[in-house]
Amino acid sequence: MNDQAAVPAGTSGKTPLLEVDDLEVAYRIGRGRRAQDLIAVSGVSFHIDHGETFAVVGESGSGKSTTARAITRTLPVRAGNIRLGGRELTELSGRELRRIRSDVQMVFQDPYSSLNPSMLIRDSIAEPLRVHTDLDSHARDAAAHDLIQAVGLLPEHLNRYPYEFSGGQRQRIAIARAIATSPSLVICDEALSALDVSTQNQIIRLLEEIRQTKSVAYLFIAHDLAVVRHIADRVGVMYLGRMMESGPTERVYNAPAHPYTEALLSAVPVPHPRRQRARRRMLLPGDVPNPLEPPSGCVFRTRCPRAMDICAEEVPMPFPAVGGGEVACHLHTSGPELGGESVRVLSTA
Ligand code: SF4
Repeated sequence: MNDQAAVPAGTSGKTPLLEVDDLEVAYRIGRGRRAQDLIAVSGVSFHIDHGETFAVVGESGSGKSTTARAITRTLPVRAGNIRLGGRELTELSGRELRRIRSDVQMVFQDPYSSLNPSMLIRDSIAEPLRVHTDLDSHARDAAAHDLIQAVGLLPEHLNRYPYEFSGGQRQRIAIARAIATSPSLVICDEALSALDVSTQNQIIRLLEEIRQTKSVAYLFIAHDLAVVRHIADRVGVMYLGRMMESGPTERVYNAPAHPYTEALLSAVPVPHPRRQRARRRMLLPGDVPNPLEPPSGCVFRTRCPRAMDICAEEVPMPFPAVGGGEVACHLHTSGPELGGESVRVLSTA
């Protein structure tokens, strides 16, 4: 892994907060002679600017959570580079890695499982400060007092236990805990998935408020495209461990360049009855292939309505998409130039 690689400029033209470059993560499956490598993530690259929200969407098994866990170095990285503030994370260990971890915090789908049920909320929120800072117990207590109010709860809630709160309140507590060490990046891994729509909106507003007041950046992982539209500055779409497309949120939603992105978007309801009725759903044939035996060339080709001969032979590399971002599809590099134009719908529902 090359620490000396040139640092690319982010969307803003400045050095990005996080750069993920050609990431590969593999799991060893089985034992002995039957052991096999499952490549969960391959050739994934993206960046996140300071204070920006980047969302990664895709179905289950697309590699988005694996990517997140590789960034926090809780999964081994087989190849590629991950830089935070220009610092290569893949080569860190011990104390240096612990220090970096205080700068990258996570919020999970199920806040109940990330909070110790036998610990007072006060201690749960202060725990990262105990692990990562030299603050004494009085200072940690004062910080917990501020943090619980920053997420819209009351100081008296500090003396309660997780079971005394609703799902939305528990997610607020998990967020308070995640921002305790003033991280520059918070990874929200399906953090809204278990919440009802109204609570989701409240948590989105809270995250946005925190982003503005604390200059934190988010890596937002979700399977629901409708949710991330209102929170993300840019979006990346993953399928079977590869990044299919990425770009500014409005461009990706209004002019998806990749057939897979279009299929995902065609399933998102439009809040307008007439437009919803006129809408055609793009159905993809077959299932997601076995990741142990991914298709040759483009991993999406077995389900793609626009597959061409070249798609089985060559892996499409990221190519600049019209309107911003990148798309990994031969339609844009070798086939007819669509220029972000909508691809033909395969079937309707
Ligand atoms: Fe479809 Fe080929 Fe593009 Fe893959 S590269 S999405 S198979 S057209």
